[in-house]
Amino acid sequence: MDFSFTPEQESFARTVENFARKEVLPGAEYRDDTCTWDWNLWRKIGEMGLAGLPLPEEYGGSGASAVTSLLAYEAFCRGGKDAGLYLSLGAHLFICAIPIWLHGTEEQKKRFLPKLASGEWIGALGLTEPNAGSDAAGVQTTARRERDYYILNGSKMFITNGPIADVVLVVATVDKSRRADGLTAFLVEKDTPGFFISRELKKMGHRSSPTAELIFEDCRVPMENRLGEEGKAFTATTDALVWERGVFLAAEAIGLMGAMLEDALDYARTRTQFGKPIADFQMIRDKLANLKVMLDASRLLSYRAAWMKDAGLDGKFEASIAKAYYADALVRFADEALQIFGGYGYMKEYSIERLYRDARLMPIGGGTSEVQRLVVASKLIRG
Ligand SMILES: Cc1cc2nc3c(=O)[nH]c(=O)nc-3n(C[C@H](O)[C@H](O)[C@H](O)COP(=O)(O)OP(=O)(O)OC[C@H]3O[C@@H](n4cnc5c(N)ncnc54)[C@H](O)[C@@H]3O)c2cc1C
Repeated sequence: MDFSFTPEQESFARTVENFARKEVLPGAEYRDDTCTWDWNLWRKIGEMGLAGLPLPEEYGGSGASAVTSLLAYEAFCRGGKDAGLYLSLGAHLFICAIPIWLHGTEEQKKRFLPKLASGEWIGALGLTEPNAGSDAAGVQTTARRERDYYILNGSKMFITNGPIADVVLVVATVDKSRRADGLTAFLVEKDTPGFFISRELKKMGHRSSPTAELIFEDCRVPMENRLGEEGKAFTATTDALVWERGVFLAAEAIGLMGAMLEDALDYARTRTQFGKPIADFQMIRDKLANLKVMLDASRLLSYRAAWMKDAGLDGKFEASIAKAYYADALVRFADEALQIFGGYGYMKEYSIERLYRDARLMPIGGGTSEVQRLVVASKLIRG
């Protein structure tokens, strides 16, 4: 067993963290306040190679392993403290570009991945619907074959990057009665006739990331934009689960925990009450220790899942265990960290107020905490 990173991995993570501190952090509060998506920053992320880090080099990525990717994106979140920007980056990469890499034809990979990896394009995943969330097999958006096209009809809800995406990986059904076995994935490009943004959605947190409801009305998608076989969309999205739960969301959770711990420690050391730093009070020390325990437990569970991916092991069960833990831990973490700041924690002067709101998404997105526990329990019971 080896818990260490290579010097190259550590040096790369430092470079990414410095980039995030210099380029992302300064505008994070403004983007949250004004719900602004920053194209300029997105291009810089592309230039840094962060829009497609784990994608193979032949398609414009860097071929980074799951562990290296987790370390780099953890550093990005810790240094930049912009959960919204990172949510957009993660949705683009882990639930759009990676499924294309894993399930696309050679022609699709060559057509889409270099533009996605460079940041010239941004991607999205359209799976959730107004009436199909945790029960993803209950998708109602239909895809009817008509000669060399599929005709899509339906709507998608809560889609990250929906208003700005150049390509959306849309999951529709070719036969509702087949449930999961009818689900089919399509790459729907921005200007496809019949594809509309219905409305942008206002959110509690992650406000620098645009979210939308999307509508498909007799939307004609060419045959060559079908991703994988008919009825195989579930495999296309579940194959990316370790990337999604063990790397993408894990990096956000542990990156934000790292940032909050750093800020809480600084504050506890410098804030004085009753003539001494509040860090001298045992109840504050108890909180700081709890934060460190939650951070390390979340990190170890996440890196285990990512390591399994790199070792060619399945890792989906371990990724769900990790997410079941770190998602709920992040909410408790933000709450305890904010408490250390007292009244200032409730004000916008410190980023803890924003990160507290951001944290609340983690037990909801990417499979709720209840769903992670269903996955863990059903594997335990099946044996
Ligand atoms: C900011 C944001 C961004 C998002 N981005 C995307 C995106 O880019 N693409 C995309 O496709 N989706 C996206 N989503 C959707 C997200 O994945 C869903 O919100 C999530 O899967 C839960 O679905 P739901 O909201 O419909 O909740 P529901 O499934 O209706 O769940 C409601 C509650 O019931 C619980 N529940 C449901 N079923 C069970 C069960 N069997 N047993 C026990 N409890 C259960 C849930 O855990 C939850 O507590 C996003 C959501 C948000 C909030």
